[in-house]
Amino acid sequence: MSALAQFPYQPSDTSQTVHYIDEVQIRIATAAACDHEATICPECARSWQREHLFTERLPWDHPDTDT
Ligand SMILES: [Zn+2]
Repeated sequence: MSALAQFPYQPSDTSQTVHYIDEVQIRIATAAACDHEATICPECARSWQREHLFTERLPWDHPDTDT
């Protein structure tokens, strides 16, 4: 699936942290096969969401159960 990743970085000429957005591809794995770093599964999706904006719906994500 594709997602937008936010990469924070700090240019040397300013104290402001800048975020730039890049599109990345994340491989979907089952929870048993996922290493929670290079692949995404239901168990680690929430930690991915802190830095990524998913542009596709996760296969296990249902709008009516979204909390
Ligand atoms: Zn995982």
